[in-house]
Amino acid sequence: MRDLATLPTAHLHVHLESTVRPATARDLADDHGVALIPRPRAFAGFAAFAEANGAVRNCLRRAEDFARVAREFCADQAAQGVRYAEVTFTAASHGERLGDIEMPLAAVLEGLAAGRAETGVEVRVLLDHPRRRSVERFARTVELARRHRDGGVVGVGFAGAEEYPLTPFAALVGEVADAGLHLVHHAGETAGPDSVRDALTTGRAERIGHGLRVLEDPRLVAELRDRGIPLEVCPSSNVALGLLPSLAEHPLSALRAAGLVVTLSTDVPAETGWTLPGEYAAVREVHGWDDAALAELARASVTASFAPAAVRRDLLAGIDAWLAGQP
Ligand SMILES: [Zn+2]
Repeated sequence: MRDLATLPTAHLHVHLESTVRPATARDLADDHGVALIPRPRAFAGFAAFAEANGAVRNCLRRAEDFARVAREFCADQAAQGVRYAEVTFTAASHGERLGDIEMPLAAVLEGLAAGRAETGVEVRVLLDHPRRRSVERFARTVELARRHRDGGVVGVGFAGAEEYPLTPFAALVGEVADAGLHLVHHAGETAGPDSVRDALTTGRAERIGHGLRVLEDPRLVAELRDRGIPLEVCPSSNVALGLLPSLAEHPLSALRAAGLVVTLSTDVPAETGWTLPGEYAAVREVHGWDDAALAELARASVTASFAPAAVRRDLLAGIDAWLAGQP
């Protein structure tokens, strides 16, 4: 067995607001007089998670707060062997809350640039929009993504309550695609295959965040497989948020056996306490994947990314070298 700490990885599904170090969250909570909610062993459903996560989000107020967590994200990713990350950030939500639509994203991009200079980790940004929020909010998100495309924003995506259909956003989705931005949506996390189909058709998704229950619909599986749409699988998050009873019950191996492109991410590492190498180790230990299969998983995460060609080449060469090395 090779050392997973030396496997070079790409991390595609991770929310910046869910990467805040506990010590940093305490500092910021003290600064702003916010009460944090202690991390439980498991959340009693999505609402309990959202409440704890909301308290941390509420600690992010000044430009220096956003820049700090972005910079620390780079350091933490580097320490875990992550060479490239696409981090999700709810920029317009913070902008509206703080009465300055530009500041949060500008500060995050500044922090990521500083982090890259210190660690060499390449990070791109995806701006997410909770489905239950207004079309006007999504329009502001799209506008922010457009304005900051050269600064590292590569796409936008829908997240949150999956019972809300994407139809109201259809016209703006077309504009996103026309602007050369990518579309990556959460779907099939809290709802079934219908939400994935909606993300593919109305949302024009290039990747699907989660897709836990796609195997219930063979036609959907065939479409995902034929189009090579990657799934961003986040097992520890699914268990911590109460969507699955245990890691062993995650359909990861069945998704792979069905010929789907599977990638591996942490989603909400600050809330779960997991790292990306920890996720790979659990796939090895719980699902019995050998090193060749783990290398394939790492490769899929690179090829499914929106990383520049040179970064992809380096990462793929690093993964090949890891597999060619002595176990
Ligand atoms: Zn997520």
